Amino acid sequence: MPATKRSKSKTSTRSLSEYQAKRNFSKTPEPSGKTTKKAKKTSPMFCVQKHLASSLHYDFRLEHNGTLLSWAVPKGPSLNPADKRLAMHVEDHPLDYGDFEGVIPEGYGAGIVVLWDKGTWEPEVEDVDAALKKGDLKFTLKGVKLKGSWVLVRTRGWGSKSEAGESRSWLLIKHRDDWAGDVDVIEAAPLSVKSFGDFADILAEDKPDVWESHKPGGGAAGKLLQQIIAQAAELKAKRSSTKGKKRNAATKKPAKKPKKTAAR
Ligand code: MN
Repeated sequence: MPATKRSKSKTSTRSLSEYQAKRNFSKTPEPSGKTTKKAKKTSPMFCVQKHLASSLHYDFRLEHNGTLLSWAVPKGPSLNPADKRLAMHVEDHPLDYGDFEGVIPEGYGAGIVVLWDKGTWEPEVEDVDAALKKGDLKFTLKGVKLKGSWVLVRTRGWGSKSEAGESRSWLLIKHRDDWAGDVDVIEAAPLSVKSFGDFADILAEDKPDVWESHKPGGGAAGKLLQQIIAQAAELKAKRSSTKGKKRNAATKKPAKKPKKTAAR
C-alpha cells in the first residue's frame, strides 16, 4: 500500500497528524489544531470579570504583548459617556486567566469570578505602549455587552504609585457612538457570558473551576470566602425575590420584560 500523503509541515502539524486522522472535525467540537496560525492574526482579546472578593468589582482586561493589562473598576463599566468610572490599574494577569470563571479559594482576590463579558479589542492609536505611558488609551471593543469606542485616561489620583511613579487611578469612559446609551448595563445584563449564571450559580455547580493563586496566601482567606459565599447567597435571594423563581422562569414566559429605556 503506498504511503498516504501526510501533512506538509514536518514539525508541529505532523505531531498532530494522529490526533487529526482519528477525528472528523465536521462532527466533533474538538479543535482541529489546524488554525493556530490564523488565530494568531485575529484581534487581541478583552474580558470583564465580575469579581466578588472582599468587595464587588469588575476587572477589565486587555490583551497586550502576551499578557492581560488589568484595571479593577469598582462600579463596573457604564455605557453612558457622562459616567467616568474609576479604574485602578492592577498587576498584569496571564492570558489564560481571560477565560476563567469560578472560585479563587485563597490568597489575594479570594472569592468568586463571573466572566461578565468577553470579545476582542482594537487600539484606536498607533502605539499602545506610548498611549499607556501617556495615560490616554483609546480603543474599540467588540464584546457581547460592551461595544464601540472607549477610552482609559490616567488621572493624577492619590495613594500608591506604580514603579514608574505614576498614579494607578484611571477613568474608563464610553465615547459617544451608536453603542452608548443610558441603559445600566451592570443591572440589565448581570449574568455570565460563559455559563449564563451568576455568583451563586457558580457556587452551586458540583465542581466549579478553581483558580489556584500563585501569590502568598493570606491566612484569613477561608473566613473571607465564607463571608463571600454568604454574600452570594444574599444576592441570589435578592434576585429571586424580584424576578420570581427560576423554575417558573423556565416553564413560563418571562414574567417581566426588561424595561425599554430611551436609549437604543
Ligand atoms: Mn479582582
